[in-house]
Amino acid sequence: MSTPVVKIENLVKRYKELIALDHFSLEIEEGEVFGLLGPNGSGKTTTINCLLSLLSYDKGNIEIFGSKMTPNNYEVKNNIGVVMQNVAVFDELTVYENIDYFCGLYVFDKAERKKLVEEAIEFVGLGEFRKFYPKKLSGGLLRRLNIACGIAHKPKLIIFDEPTVAVDPQSRNKILEGIEKLNKDGATVIYTSHYMEEVEQICTRIAIMDKGKCRAIGTNAELRKLIHNTETVTVEIAKPSDDDMSEISNLPHVYETEYSDGKLVVKYSGGKHNLIRLMNLLSEKQYSMGRVFSELPTLNDVFLEITGTALRDSEQ
Ligand code: ADP
Ligand code: MG
Repeated sequence: MSTPVVKIENLVKRYKELIALDHFSLEIEEGEVFGLLGPNGSGKTTTINCLLSLLSYDKGNIEIFGSKMTPNNYEVKNNIGVVMQNVAVFDELTVYENIDYFCGLYVFDKAERKKLVEEAIEFVGLGEFRKFYPKKLSGGLLRRLNIACGIAHKPKLIIFDEPTVAVDPQSRNKILEGIEKLNKDGATVIYTSHYMEEVEQICTRIAIMDKGKCRAIGTNAELRKLIHNTETVTVEIAKPSDDDMSEISNLPHVYETEYSDGKLVVKYSGGKHNLIRLMNLLSEKQYSMGRVFSELPTLNDVFLEITGTALRDSEQ
């Protein structure tokens, strides 16, 4: 086994009475796009701040590139890029000057830095805005500037903390594509989000966080296998009688049946031909049906089964 890029062991962080991280452990290997998925307040940003030694913690151990992370470990810090949740750029500097400033914290050679800043501008597609001040940029462009500032020095480990919150779809796609490109070019990435679709799209492995705990960890496919649910069938239909509802509940592999808002939702654990069997039953009883869907479990189902609350419901 190679040395993990990030190793977090039994991290505990308290803010007074509140336990923000509760014995949180994690290992991230080189070349991963690792997702930290959890609702607001689950401890994602606290984890990032502890990782970077920006925040002291009560217990635990953090190693990055095999070296213990401390506030003065500049050798490690030089190889990390951070894109913080809240945009952090200087209003009095232009796009170019902002990127040059942040890159200059790591790269002292002027010619080398100029090349890197140009590459970063090109990378986030801010070429025509290079002389703009941040106040003149839209939310999405500002996010892209924030990203350029974090990655210009070509770090080996890049951390993105909810980089797509409140950005337009175009910038959002550009950001996600950019992250995949950085990863292809060799960077290991940590990506936090409360949007499961994004995490599903770009992450090689995902940790599900809830209330400061790591509740599950694995690839998308591995996480789906952790749960009971294998299929959810939804049928637009008039409300079936109580007898028919109980007949549906007794079909093979059904573990939950619910009717609301003109929709019958039937959840299955295992089995084949579940959809056909349900359709046959409903046709036999001469119900007329609207649209019918059969869906595999989503990360939302995984989250729901593991934590008892839906990720979607907890979103603001
Ligand atoms: P996330 O990034 O997943 O939204 P955070 O790490 O920001 O979660 O927060 C985890 C928990 O710690 C939340 O309950 C939050 O209210 C609390 N918290 C975060 N920062 C502070 C702070 N500086 N002081 C007190 N409580 C905090
Ligand atoms: Mg956060």
